[in-house]
Amino acid sequence: MCGITGIYAPGHDAARLAFFALYALQHRGQESAGIAVSDGGTIKSHREMGLLSAIFDEEILSDLTGYIACGHTRYSTSGSSIVVNAQPLLETTEIGDFSFAHNGNLTNTDELRDTLAPTTILQASSDSEVLAKLIVEAEGSMMERIVTVMHRARGAYSVVLCTRDELYAFRDPWGVRPLCLGTYGDGGYVAASESCALATVGAKFERELAPGEVVRIHKGGVESIVMATTERKALCMFEYIYFARPDSTLNGKTIYMARYAMGRELAKEYPVEADVVMAVPDSAIPGGIGYAAESGLPYIEGLIKNRYIGRTFISPDQSMRDRGVQLKFNPVVENLKDQRVVVVDDSIVRGTTTPRIVQLLRDAGAQEVHVRVTSPPIKHPCYLGVDMATYDELIGANYSVEEIRKKIGADTLGYLSLEGLVRATGRDEKEMCLGCLTGTYPNVPAAHRNRALVG
Ligand code: 5GP
Ligand code: MG
Repeated sequence: MCGITGIYAPGHDAARLAFFALYALQHRGQESAGIAVSDGGTIKSHREMGLLSAIFDEEILSDLTGYIACGHTRYSTSGSSIVVNAQPLLETTEIGDFSFAHNGNLTNTDELRDTLAPTTILQASSDSEVLAKLIVEAEGSMMERIVTVMHRARGAYSVVLCTRDELYAFRDPWGVRPLCLGTYGDGGYVAASESCALATVGAKFERELAPGEVVRIHKGGVESIVMATTERKALCMFEYIYFARPDSTLNGKTIYMARYAMGRELAKEYPVEADVVMAVPDSAIPGGIGYAAESGLPYIEGLIKNRYIGRTFISPDQSMRDRGVQLKFNPVVENLKDQRVVVVDDSIVRGTTTPRIVQLLRDAGAQEVHVRVTSPPIKHPCYLGVDMATYDELIGANYSVEEIRKKIGADTLGYLSLEGLVRATGRDEKEMCLGCLTGTYPNVPAAHRNRALVG
């Protein structure tokens, strides 16, 4: 994952707009962040490890003057967690310099890397740098270069690219990662991973980029090309399940309403006699409210989350992840004591979080704990940008639902069916990537799957 934004706003402070857009996208990655800005002449940038609020201050932002900016907040999946892998990347070509921010994972990086000129030096270890270098080495105008590279790259890439005086945004032909476009003020544009970032900076949402689309924004206006492609569309279902912010819209519907509908579907599929319904904050709250509405049970807050703790999943090792859960939640004892509690979560991935949640609720006096999950079991790794590394780590790949119930210590456990999930999103499953749920990946070559598993 990652959050990306591109700003084209003549007469405005683009770096500041990029900063606030990225702030709204911080949930998409907390490892590093950066902004590159152009005043029409030169590109300046600043990037560092850590959260946006720790990286940027007034002094740094004031120095980033210009009306075109590109920004990135990183969650690492490919390439290690070090500052040379932080983005935006800066590249030089014979047609001028550009900055580059990428969300997604390529699935033919090794093959593409082998085609780069021997004189090309890679500083980072990421697939993003390979993609940027391919653009450097391609020929023609920037638009031609991007289209050439889009025909060669496989996997997931939503990208914003800024030259000295133009902004480009493009999306892979499968449309795995989201990317949308809005207008800003008089003649300005904002591209961002999610619509919540447009709302934050006061841009007006126009549309999602189409899979395979390149948008070019420059002095003369906006141009768009959609690659002729036979590829099947494959938006990541995990954006709906967990990743995207609930106030963002996809396909004309907020993620909130989709998650609410997932909760309702789940209550129909797995009802239980209980006293109260709660959700694991924050990502499961819409699902929990939906479950409560459908079941007729009262919705309560059973756990309070510390707002200032990042997502524990991001922690690089298991022992830090283990501690994270206790640091993150405190129970509201009066709401739980002697109650039969339905607790709704959005997903069980490694199976680290859920047993601790169940234990916290029992320690707070819950009489019964019924776990309900608004996604089917995650049984397969993701090769397209979500950190669900290997089969070994995925509890759903290795145990039956009954075994998982025992491991997490729940009285009952119910996972939403694939049909229920798809219905809740209101989408056609043929336009989604369901790889982590089904093991069928629309755009990941088998050779890459084998290699990824070995590595
Ligand atoms: P587990 O402990 O089973 O690995 O993680 C499941 C919990 O982590 C759920 O509460 C879910 O909301 C959250 N989660 C699922 N996927 C991700 C992810 O990609 N990043 C982060 N930070 N949390 C995740
Ligand atoms: Mg969660």
